[in-house]
Amino acid sequence: MAGGMPVMELDTFLAARQRIAGRVLRTPLVLSASLSERCGLPVGMKLEHHQTTGSFKLRGAANAVLSLSPKERARGVVAASTGNHGRALAHAAKAEGSSATICMSQLVPENKLSEIRRLGANVRIVGRSQDEAQQEVDRLVSEEGLVMVPPFDHPAIVAGQGTLGLEIVEDMPEVSTVLVPLSGGGLAAGVAAAVKARRPKARVIGLTMERGAAMKASLDAGRPVQVEEEASLADSLGGGIGLDNRVTFAMCRDLLDDVVLLSEEEIAAGIRHAYEQEREIVEGAGAVGFAALLAGKIRNINGPVAVILSGRNIDMGLHRRVINGETDPLREGRT
Ligand SMILES: *Cc1c(COP(=O)(O)O)cnc(C)c1O
Repeated sequence: MAGGMPVMELDTFLAARQRIAGRVLRTPLVLSASLSERCGLPVGMKLEHHQTTGSFKLRGAANAVLSLSPKERARGVVAASTGNHGRALAHAAKAEGSSATICMSQLVPENKLSEIRRLGANVRIVGRSQDEAQQEVDRLVSEEGLVMVPPFDHPAIVAGQGTLGLEIVEDMPEVSTVLVPLSGGGLAAGVAAAVKARRPKARVIGLTMERGAAMKASLDAGRPVQVEEEASLADSLGGGIGLDNRVTFAMCRDLLDDVVLLSEEEIAAGIRHAYEQEREIVEGAGAVGFAALLAGKIRNINGPVAVILSGRNIDMGLHRRVINGETDPLREGRT
């Protein structure tokens, strides 16, 4: 561990868990017969894609909203995410009687828009890019006093995501390797800190796609850097880590034992394996753990492995094309 002590201690995660209890599901960890046989060791699947809103993001969002003062909560929360964070924040705000505003560009597809509206959020459509949507967030913060809840780079978000790590160690006390999907690093930072607080010898490995992996490029460069975004089956893993990253870059640098990159074909194989062998529907980001094990990219496994299935919010047409084995599921037969 290059940076010495973890930034966050066990108490932070225990407090977060207490705060969000009853607001989020405690998801099961079940053995995968197929992967246990393949690896010759117990492989457990953390079924977090069954979480309310379809991803783990609700843990961080709920913890962040519940950590606000009553005055802040009354002002309302705001974010620019149109993906799983936006969805989770809309749900968490509604549950606490706060209002959520989600800013998005005109390019966001109708189904994402209606899903977030259905959760009771105000939707602001501005400009033609994520940057312009973020400018609207900044304006709402400074002019209307809304409280921004970012998708990963915030201590309350990291603490909420880390509650997932506590559950893994409880359900698999001998766990030796934890496989975590990695994008902005809120999940990986929280899980790594919580798991290592309980079980210092466990390895935590971040998994991401070859296409446009901002955290991997930043870790290699020794500082946050920007990468060009590219379409990927693991769309929830896209986006930057923020050039002014304050929390997750340092935690991932200090706490992750390795970062493994997956090709689109490997991610597709992970989605197919989840469906055909485990009867689970996962999105690309949720399939990277399976992808890495199937591709033989996790070396020196010497004890039980936990794989986090982080989300299930995949377009079902895309899912069908992946299951059918289409060579370019992102482009072919789009309707
Ligand atoms: C957001 C997300 C991730 C990555 O989480 P970070 O905290 O940004 O690293 C992984 N899987 C799914 C399904 C997500 O929604």
